[in-house]
Amino acid sequence: MSTETTETFEFQVEARQLLHLMIHSIYSNKDVFLRELISNASDALDKLRLAALRDSSLDADISDLHIDIEADRAARTLTVRDNGIGMSRDEVVQLIGTIANSGTAQFLKELKEAEDASSAEGLIGQFGVGFYASFMVADKVTLLTRRAGESQGTRWTSTGEGTYTIDTVDDAPQGTAVTLHLKPEDAEDRLYDYAAPWKIREIVKRYSDFITWPVRMAPEPRADAGADGTGEEGTGTEDAEAPAAPETLNSMKALWARSREEVTDEEYHELYKHISHDWHDPLETIRLQAEGTFEYQALLFLPSHAPHDLFNQGYKRGVQLYVKRVFIMEDCDALMPSYLRFVKGVVDAQDLSLNVSREMLQQDRQIQLMNRRLAKKVLATVKDLRTKDPERYATFWREFGAVVKEGLIGDYENRDTLLEVSSFATTHDEDAPTTLRQYVERMPEGQEHIFYLTGESRQALENSPHMETFRAKGIEVLLLTDPVDEVWVDSVPAYDGKQFRSVAKGEVDLGTEEEKQEAEKERKQHQEQFAGLLTWMTEHLKENVKEVRLSSRLTVSPACLVSDTHDVTPALESMYRAMGQSLPPTKRILELNPSHALVSGLNTARAERPDDGGLAETAELLYDMALLAEGGTPGDPARFVKLMADRIERTL
Ligand code: ADP
Repeated sequence: MSTETTETFEFQVEARQLLHLMIHSIYSNKDVFLRELISNASDALDKLRLAALRDSSLDADISDLHIDIEADRAARTLTVRDNGIGMSRDEVVQLIGTIANSGTAQFLKELKEAEDASSAEGLIGQFGVGFYASFMVADKVTLLTRRAGESQGTRWTSTGEGTYTIDTVDDAPQGTAVTLHLKPEDAEDRLYDYAAPWKIREIVKRYSDFITWPVRMAPEPRADAGADGTGEEGTGTEDAEAPAAPETLNSMKALWARSREEVTDEEYHELYKHISHDWHDPLETIRLQAEGTFEYQALLFLPSHAPHDLFNQGYKRGVQLYVKRVFIMEDCDALMPSYLRFVKGVVDAQDLSLNVSREMLQQDRQIQLMNRRLAKKVLATVKDLRTKDPERYATFWREFGAVVKEGLIGDYENRDTLLEVSSFATTHDEDAPTTLRQYVERMPEGQEHIFYLTGESRQALENSPHMETFRAKGIEVLLLTDPVDEVWVDSVPAYDGKQFRSVAKGEVDLGTEEEKQEAEKERKQHQEQFAGLLTWMTEHLKENVKEVRLSSRLTVSPACLVSDTHDVTPALESMYRAMGQSLPPTKRILELNPSHALVSGLNTARAERPDDGGLAETAELLYDMALLAEGGTPGDPARFVKLMADRIERTL
């Protein structure tokens, strides 16, 4: 074996931090390192089979794809070897020396802030750290790899502390072998006896049984005495005459092809972890068997928490696609609508070509039907969860509600179901969100609409002047604070025949017929009384507002700004701007509270001193105050402060 010069590299900063964590392991279940290595090896075999299928000229042997585990108890090493796709030298540096996951920085920040070991453990589990998990059990790791089709191999070695070395190796076998030098301090602990065959058997059975490639274990140098790990150490003398065949440790049965009764929840959960790189159990497992002309099996999972990058552009969505048990592609986005992009799982179709491409899938009618059927199945599961297990439903909605609501905008077919499974924060209950069904059931007689208010935070919405009358009359309002809420409320006409109405838009008329008539009478009176003020203010503020009118929604504040029923809200306007769309500013309506002393005082003063310039400034202040009350900023803050200061000074 000829080895060229050894080069030393530094780990990327994030990788270094992560490794530090792994070495000083705070993760209590160290066994998972082996699951991670087998998972990577299995992926590498999938990739090689696929590459060979697509490119017949690829110089690779795919006749006997497998994963071998070799343990040496005397040397305390453990090797996981696959004859899969392997990595080129550049890939080793890229894939093993850095962490590509876009959520890493955020993850590490949260990890630093995590107060105790158990919350840190939760975070690690959420993130999944793959290959690096080796450093929980090893103080040195060597990876020898050769990419299929290439002649030279690469050896990567590290103790996990800051740097790693790379050599080029001439005669490496195809695939990847990862050798762990197990930490000496774990040697005496049965719990961590990772070089013991019984331990390896146990871990593989537990975490990797469903892996579709054989996971084999070579016999120990001398036959293992006791399967309980109490046997004597091997002496290293091999029985050369009859080398025992490796033992296959896993059953290799695709879980989705087995009947429900045959598979335990734990097995499903391990498959989920393999495909999602999540270390936590999923919230829910969903099975679907489609018979008939286009046959397929699906095994889908709802995760128990949202990934960090769910809202990033380029978030990889979709489930894994298999064709007749052969892995075809990761992140098959054609199979899942975008608003269910967090769903993980496997779909195995019987009648697709092994050569199917992403582009072909997007066009394929059968795939579109599958997409719709899977979406329906997921939504039906969520609906079920809501009635049968409110607690788990609440977790689901907290984690994924903001994404699922995106479906309200485009998926007309499932709109009713989506409205049924959605829940919303409400003024009715500070802690528990409400479903629309519950809201409608609570609606008092005379209320025709479902009222809502959109904005930044629950607190800002609760204190908004727009809420005053609703609070005074005890009318429930949905408090919508996700950005997507601004959009769907405009595209969903109604739920159960009741239209959605923003409390910050249009006119409000609440109460019974009698109350409405009463209010109308009062409004007419006020209208006459304030007509002059309204005309004058509309003219004076015409640069900023399209109209000044009297309000029926205020009880304490002097003024507020509202939008016309079909106008774009300011929040939506700034969202469009942020996306680079230019649109003319929408003027809103300034509403005055006729019962407020400032408004009635201004009315009287104007009638008495029509030429008083100070009154025009007061009108401007009313407008600016309305802006401030909803969290906006006056157009000229310095002028606002000056005018305010003048007036306060006069009160002293
Ligand atoms: P993850 O598996 O979550 O992507 P890892 O740190 O475990 O993260 O691995 C990083 C990458 O290194 C993998 O995505 C894969 O491309 C490559 N890799 C790891 N192990 C192997 C292997 N046995 N064979 C080929 N490539 C591998």
